Amino acid sequence: MPKRLYFFDEGDGNNKRLLGGKGAGLCTMAQLGLPVPPGFVITTEVCREYYEAGGRLPNGLMEEVVQAMKKLEKITGKGFGDPKNPLLVSVRSGSMYSMPGMMDTILNLGLNDETVEGLARLTNNERFAYDAYRRFIQMFGKIVLGVDGKKFEEIFERQKERVGAKFDTDLKASDLKEIVSKFKELVRKETHRDFPVDPYTQLELAIGAVFASWQNKRAVEYRRFYKIPDYLGTAVNVVTMVFGNIGEDSGTGVAFTRDPSTGEHKLFGEFLFNAQGEDVVAGIRTPLKIEDLNRRYPWIYNRLVEIAEKLERHYRDMQDIEFTVERGKLYMLQTRAGKRTAQAAVKIAVDMVVEGLIRKEEALLRIEPAHVEQLLHKQVDPKAKVTVIAKGLNASPGAAVGKVVFDSERAKEMGKAGEKVILVRPETSPDDVGGIIASQGVLTSRGGVTSHAAVVTRGLGKPAVVGCEAIKIDAEARRFEVDGIAVKEGDLITINGTTGEVILGEAPLIEPRMSPELLTILSFADEVKKLQNWANADYPRDAKKARELGAQGIGLCRTEHMFFEEDRLPLVHEMILGKTVEERKKPLEKLLQIQKNDFKEILEVMDGLPVIIRLLDPPLHEFLPKYEKLLEEVIELRLKGTDPDGLKKKEEMLKRVENMREANPMMGLRGCRLGITYPDINEMQVRAIFEAACELKREGKDPRPEIMIPLVGHVNELKVVREQLEKVAHEVMQKHGVDLKYKFGTMIEVPRAALTADEIAEYAEFFSFGTNDLTQMVFAYSRDDAEGRFLFQYIERGILEADPFQKLDQKGVGKLMKIAVDLGRSKRPDLEIGICGEHGGDPQSIEFCHELGLNYVSCSPFRIPVARLAAAHAALKSKEPEKQAYSMA
Ligand code: PEP
Ligand code: MG
Repeated sequence: MPKRLYFFDEGDGNNKRLLGGKGAGLCTMAQLGLPVPPGFVITTEVCREYYEAGGRLPNGLMEEVVQAMKKLEKITGKGFGDPKNPLLVSVRSGSMYSMPGMMDTILNLGLNDETVEGLARLTNNERFAYDAYRRFIQMFGKIVLGVDGKKFEEIFERQKERVGAKFDTDLKASDLKEIVSKFKELVRKETHRDFPVDPYTQLELAIGAVFASWQNKRAVEYRRFYKIPDYLGTAVNVVTMVFGNIGEDSGTGVAFTRDPSTGEHKLFGEFLFNAQGEDVVAGIRTPLKIEDLNRRYPWIYNRLVEIAEKLERHYRDMQDIEFTVERGKLYMLQTRAGKRTAQAAVKIAVDMVVEGLIRKEEALLRIEPAHVEQLLHKQVDPKAKVTVIAKGLNASPGAAVGKVVFDSERAKEMGKAGEKVILVRPETSPDDVGGIIASQGVLTSRGGVTSHAAVVTRGLGKPAVVGCEAIKIDAEARRFEVDGIAVKEGDLITINGTTGEVILGEAPLIEPRMSPELLTILSFADEVKKLQNWANADYPRDAKKARELGAQGIGLCRTEHMFFEEDRLPLVHEMILGKTVEERKKPLEKLLQIQKNDFKEILEVMDGLPVIIRLLDPPLHEFLPKYEKLLEEVIELRLKGTDPDGLKKKEEMLKRVENMREANPMMGLRGCRLGITYPDINEMQVRAIFEAACELKREGKDPRPEIMIPLVGHVNELKVVREQLEKVAHEVMQKHGVDLKYKFGTMIEVPRAALTADEIAEYAEFFSFGTNDLTQMVFAYSRDDAEGRFLFQYIERGILEADPFQKLDQKGVGKLMKIAVDLGRSKRPDLEIGICGEHGGDPQSIEFCHELGLNYVSCSPFRIPVARLAAAHAALKSKEPEKQAYSMA
C-alpha cells in the first residue's frame, strides 16, 4: 500500500501533486533547516480514496494518524488531549495548485474543557486560552458540524454588547468562558449532540471536513475558472499549533520576498502583533508594514530576510511566505511562488537573470503574453485634471473606469450585460471571485496589500485599490460616502491601482510606456524567436508605432482605409460612379497623387523593411452611402422640389448603388475580382506604389514594397492581374531609371487557393494567410454577424471551444494552412509566408504558426510586444529536438 502520511522531514518537497503546495513547501522548509512547527501531510491520494469510498476516510487511515500523533507528541514533548501540557494542532488544506481561501482550515484543534485549562496555566494567560477555545468551537462548529456561522457571531456580538465591549479584545476571560458555554449550547441545539471533546474524534472529523471542502461550491467554481482538474484532490496538513496571539511579543505576518507590485528586491509584507494567522489575510484589521517589525524586533526581521534569500535561492523564484512569532520565536508556516503583477513579473525575471539565479530562456517562460498585455494597459493621463476623492493602497496597477456596484451578484449581472463596473466592498472574500472577474477593477475600504482583493486582482491583472478607509460604505443603501461626497450605485468612478487614487467620474486614460525591464525581456525574446513580427498598419503613424514596438515589416496595409478619409471620399465616389475608363480617369489621377504620398510616407518610415501593400479589397458599394439612406434623401428632395441639380446627383448615386447591390457581398465583386473588372483602379494603385518607391530610392532610401493581390481562388486570377501590373511596375521604374527590390504575392483566404497553392505559388512570391476570410469561408460563418447571433451561444454551450475568429481553428482552418504551406513551398522553396488575419496577434495561434514554419506573424501595432514574446515562447516550447535542447540547456 502506498505511504499515506509524510512527516515534514521526510516528504519530497518537489512533489506538489502528492503533498499539495502547502505540504510540499513545509517539507522543503523543514529540510532546509528552517524553523517549521513539526507536523505531517496526509497525501492527495488519500483524498481520492476518500471520494472513492463515497466521502469516508479510508479504512486504517486513523490508525496511521494515531501513530503519527504519537510521534508528534514525542517530538514536541506535549500530549494530544493532555490537560497538563496539551498538544494542539491545525488541520489545513493544500492542493497542488494554490486556491487561496477556497478550502477549509481548522485551528486550535485538541481543545476541550480540560486542555483549555492546561493551556491557560502554561501560557499564564486565561483570556488567551479561552479566546482560542471559542475560536475553535466557532470554526469547527461552522466548518465540520455545519452550524450556521452567523449564529456564533450573534452570540459573540450580544455578549460584547452586554458587557459594553467595543473591541473583541475588550472581552475578559470570564466573558469568553460564557461565550464558550453558549457556543456549546448552540452546537447541542443545532446538531442534537454535544460538542466532541475527544481530540481524536475532533481530528478525524476535521480531516474528513477538509477533504470534503475540495468539493465545496466555491472551490469547484474556482477550479473551473482556472482549469484545475478535479481529480487532483487536496492534501491535509496536521501542524503543531504555534500562537501569534499570546501577547505583544507574538504576532503573525505574510511577506513576499520581493515587492509583488513593482518587483523591487526587498522584503515586502505585513504583520499584526498579537494576532492569529487568518487575521492578516482576511483583512479585518489593517496590518502594519513589515518594516515596523524591523523597528521593534530587528533580529526577527533580519532572520526573515535571511530565510527569504535562502528560499529564493532554493526555488529560484519569488516566494510568498506566512510566518508566526510566538513569544519572540519565529516559525515558518508556508511558502509558495508569489503571485505578482505583470510589472513585477517582468522586473523579477530580468533581475534574476542579472543575479545569476535563472537563465534568459527561463526568464522568458516566466512571463506570460497576458503579462505583457497588462503592461500595455491604460493609465490615468497625468496631465488630466481629475477629482481625487480618496486614496487607498495601490494593490494592483493600471487604471479602470466603471459604474460602482456594491455586491458581486450585481457585478456579474451588469458585467454580463456588457457594462463596465467597479466592485466596491468593505473587503472581499473567496465568494466574490466571480464578481471580481466580471468587474474592471476593485475598491475596498479595508485590508492590506496581501488581502484577498489584492491577491486575486493581481492574479487577474485587474486594477485594485484596497484599504481605502476614507470611504464609508453602506452596502444596504447601495452608496458610499467620502468627505461629504455621496457615490451611488451606477455612478462612474475611476480607480488608479498604480497610485491608489479613487477618482470621481471618468478620468481620461492613456497608453503606457514600456519599462526598461520589458524592453530587456523583449530583446531576450528576439534572440530566441524564429518567427518575425510584422504589423498591420494602414497609416504612417501606425507604421511608426509598429516600428517603435519592434515590428520587422508591415504585413498588411489595407489601402481602402485611406479611401475613407474625408478629403478622398468624394474622389472615390466619382471614381465608382464613372461608368467608363474615361469617366474614371480624372478622379483616378487625383487619387494617384494622394496615394503616392501615403505610400511614400509608410515606405519611408519602414525604410529597409518589407511593406506589404494590399490592392483594393472590399466591395465598392462599401464606399457609397447606404441604399436606404439615399432613398430617403431622394424622396425628400423630390417632395421639396427646390434643388433639381442635387436631386439629379442623388438619383444617379441611388441608381448606381442599386446596380451594385449584391445578395452576398462578401462573396461578390471584391478582392482581385475588382481589379479584373476595373483594371484601371489596380493600375493606379500600383503606379502610386512604384512612383513612391522610385522617388525614395532616388533619395537614397531603401524601400521594399510588396504588392498583395487579395481573395485569389484560382491561379488565373493572379496570373492575369500580375501580368498587367508587372508592366506598370516596369514602366514606372524605367521612367525613373531605378531598379527596385519588390515582390508580387497573394493572400490565401479562399479555401480553393489553399488547396491549389502549388499552382498559385508559380505566380506568387509570397503568401499571406487572411485567416479572417479563410475562417469565414471554411466555417461558412459570416464574420460580421456570427458572433452576435449564435457564436457566443455555441461557446457557452461548449459546441465550440473558442471563437474561431479569435483563436485559430487549428483542426480545420489550420489544416488548410498546412496544405497551402506544403504545396506552396513544394513549388517555390523560398516562398515567404505569413499571416495577417486577427489571429496573428493571438499567442496560441502564433504558436501554431511557428509549428507550420511561417516566416512571420502580422498583427496590430499595439500587440507587437505580446506577439514577440509569444513567438519566443513558441520557439522555446517547440517540439523540434534541437530547439528543445536549447530551452532545456
Ligand atoms: C483576412 O481576411 O484575414 C484579412 C486580413 O483581410 P481583411 O480582414 O481585410 O478581409
Ligand atoms: Mg480578407
